Amino acid sequence: MVIVMNDRATDKDVELVTGNLTRMGLGVHVSRGAERVIIGVIGDVRKVSPEIVESYPGVERAVRILEPYKLASRKVRSTPTVVDCCGVQVGGREVVLIAGPCSVENLSMTLETARAARSGGAAMLRGGAFKPRSSPYSFQGLGLEGLEILAQARGETDLPVVTEVMAPEQVEIVAAHADMLQIGARNMQNFNLLQEVGRQRKPVMLKRGMMASVDEWLQAAEYVLAYGNMQVVLCERGIRTFETQTRFTLDLSAVPVVKKLTHLPVIVDPCHGTGKRDLVAPMAMAAVAAGADGIIIEAHPDPETALSDGPQSLRLEQISGLSASLSHIAAAIGRCMHPALPQGSLSRPQACPKPAQMVAPTQDSGVRGC
Ligand code: PEP
Ligand code: MN
Repeated sequence: MVIVMNDRATDKDVELVTGNLTRMGLGVHVSRGAERVIIGVIGDVRKVSPEIVESYPGVERAVRILEPYKLASRKVRSTPTVVDCCGVQVGGREVVLIAGPCSVENLSMTLETARAARSGGAAMLRGGAFKPRSSPYSFQGLGLEGLEILAQARGETDLPVVTEVMAPEQVEIVAAHADMLQIGARNMQNFNLLQEVGRQRKPVMLKRGMMASVDEWLQAAEYVLAYGNMQVVLCERGIRTFETQTRFTLDLSAVPVVKKLTHLPVIVDPCHGTGKRDLVAPMAMAAVAAGADGIIIEAHPDPETALSDGPQSLRLEQISGLSASLSHIAAAIGRCMHPALPQGSLSRPQACPKPAQMVAPTQDSGVRGC
């Protein structure tokens, strides 16, 4: 069972609920979000009547949930969560393009890529400083120096930065430099790491493990939510199948599936999903058509010499063409792309124009960004 307290609930109201449940022999897990407190009840909840709990002061709703994920479930929150990353909203009406190098290799290629991302219409910059490489002999990333380069690129372009964190002890330093923390596919079930990013307040992008079912992915998200961080963006990045034409099989059906099961936003990574540059644009367009809230792509000034993932990285001059294609798809489904920053200006423009047939956005997660 999940108990959602209303926005006027006091600490005393929360204590009354948790005290009564504990006396009934049930476990309680209290998540304090930016606006409200959510109490997860663990144990045999058949003896608890939701109607009685809802009569307690400060209680908005009590819901019995059988799925192993509760806070992530649509049953707890019917309106979509909008994750705010320094003013870039993921999960709202606008589709967000995130672009940048697979790995931060040095300052100059990162700045060049960040500038191209910005002028090409990206709303955020990606780049790996800590790299989860399959081989220990491959480039492992610049670590702290990479984080400093990313922060410099953000300072110059005003693009919020998302970067991967691989270990619980790195969370503090990565959160100090980045605006959104990426949990990579290989770490989707690193539960200590999930707990640690759940304890801090920067938004988290949780990639789907390459061998994870949707349920396992949502349970991983539940860890972050249960530890108090409600700002989670899911990212579909391809799963392992028998197919060898592509690096992974990009599971686009996961987008509408996840949208039905959870209120969390979902974005798609067509670069890792396919491994092939020429497949990135068609799969990105298909992802937006399927309802993805954003696309994350890799780009490099000279993909042939990239230290990681060159074959799937767009050339810098391809970013704007991708943005243009995505805007057509977004418009066709009553959405729009997050507006590109005007050249020479570091201030973010106002929201995109509303198409006539636009459905009024209902999203309001109450979460606040950076
Ligand atoms: C990446 O984004 O560069 C990356 C390593 O992604 P994934 O965890 O999806 O493989
Ligand atoms: Mn990569």
